[in-house]
Amino acid sequence: MERVMNYIGGRSVEPSTGEYIDKVDPRTNRKQKEVASSGPQDVDMAVAAAAAALPAWRDMRPSGRGRILVDIARSVRNSALRLGDIERAETGKPGREMAQLIDLTAQYLEFYGGIVNTMDGDVINVGPDYHVYTRRDPFGVVGIILPWNAPLHQAARAIAPALATGNTIVAKPSEFTSGSLVEFGKLAEEAGLPAGVLNVVLGVGPVVGPAMVSNPAVRKISFTGSVRAGQELGKLAAERILPLTLELGGKSANIVFADADLDAAAEGSTTAFTWNSGQWCAAGTRLLVEERIYDRFVEKLLAYVAALRFGPEDEASYGAITTRAQYEKIQAFFEIARRDGLTPATGGKVASGPAFGDGWFIEPTVYAGVTNDMQIAREEVFGPVLSVIRFRDEADAVRIANDSVFGLSAGIWSRDIGRVHRVAAQLEAGRIVVNEYGGGFVQTPTGGYKSSGYGREQGVEALGHYTQLKSVIIRL
Ligand code: NAD
Repeated sequence: MERVMNYIGGRSVEPSTGEYIDKVDPRTNRKQKEVASSGPQDVDMAVAAAAAALPAWRDMRPSGRGRILVDIARSVRNSALRLGDIERAETGKPGREMAQLIDLTAQYLEFYGGIVNTMDGDVINVGPDYHVYTRRDPFGVVGIILPWNAPLHQAARAIAPALATGNTIVAKPSEFTSGSLVEFGKLAEEAGLPAGVLNVVLGVGPVVGPAMVSNPAVRKISFTGSVRAGQELGKLAAERILPLTLELGGKSANIVFADADLDAAAEGSTTAFTWNSGQWCAAGTRLLVEERIYDRFVEKLLAYVAALRFGPEDEASYGAITTRAQYEKIQAFFEIARRDGLTPATGGKVASGPAFGDGWFIEPTVYAGVTNDMQIAREEVFGPVLSVIRFRDEADAVRIANDSVFGLSAGIWSRDIGRVHRVAAQLEAGRIVVNEYGGGFVQTPTGGYKSSGYGREQGVEALGHYTQLKSVIIRL
């Protein structure tokens, strides 16, 4: 049976605990491999390796670091099939989604490998008797904790700006999807990344996370995952005043006005809640539809949903649910919706039949006639489950959209350019997408309002989140 090991200081290392976690293939419900279950000692070893590699990496010219990042990107593209196969087997994604995510993985490395060369401080004029300037320094060793829904993509999103700015890294992928990042670490080294600059420690969050936070050589944590784990991490980090970037969950509103192109909106709104089997932090899972087109629009939407192909095939629109716990959580929401008096307009059950075998597949599910106070409209399901909510007018749409503890993303469908800007300005969300629901560009900053987190990943802004600003004040 294959065993996935830690990757520390350029070597595969067994966990000091001697323990391994069973990894089950979500497409078949069969054990696939074993993954190292590390303890605090392994984290300390990885942090020591990252600290030893720091001075040389930090002091390299930005253009030198950038060139290595671009070389890693090329290597990722050349190894797209191999990396994709590992990640598909661990997540249950179909090939089409996987190809998109590998492409984005390479794009992060290319973007930050180039843009780091433009990262400058400012000269601040306080009068002729001073020369004042700012410079950006890396934090040092950065801890990166990652979820299972888009493993390499989420990893590259944090790793690329952190490396570009001269930090070294200890990364912890999810215990459910560890293989692709270990492979990425090896491939990065073959492409020229010095040993110890990127270390991968595997294991469960409540053990590895606190060990990372309490190690004094770790100077910054980037966390992508659930609100619950983000809160726990935040409490520990507060003890050390350790800066965090938190990318957490969502319950994003996707608003369809009567003046929109309704076919495009119905198609886009279907992708919004089913892409990646709905296991997408920014998924548009609250569909807000203007009253006077409500019935007509729901009918169109259901036609697009009915045309979806999902399952284990490579060409499927979406694939399996990645973890058993998540598969069970989605089913618990079906029961919650039933208790709230809702009947699904479609779906509402696990997929069964020979094509699905014992895999963890969920039918695309639409609940119409939902009100925003229902539990299904308030909590993140993280599966292909949509709540359709009606609204009266623009003000009502904004009120309902903002009535959520989350604020990660939002969609607007309208041909009225004035309305688009008015509504975009009022929505409490870190990313607004208009007349489509995707917009995964590495150049655009992303992150949460409210409980969806703080700090920003992606875009030029991320360079600021992996560096600290220093003012130098010189009396002439
Ligand atoms: P999770 O919080 O359970 O796990 C995320 C990571 O944190 C894993 O590596 C896990 O091992 C670790 N972890 C768990 N408990 C921890 C603790 N107490 N201390 C430190 N680390 C801990 O989340 P998940 O189930 O892997 O991912 C799904 C969640 O992630 C969803 O809520 C989703 O919305 C969110 N997410 C957000 C974004 C974003 O960019 N905002 C992207 C992807 C996923």
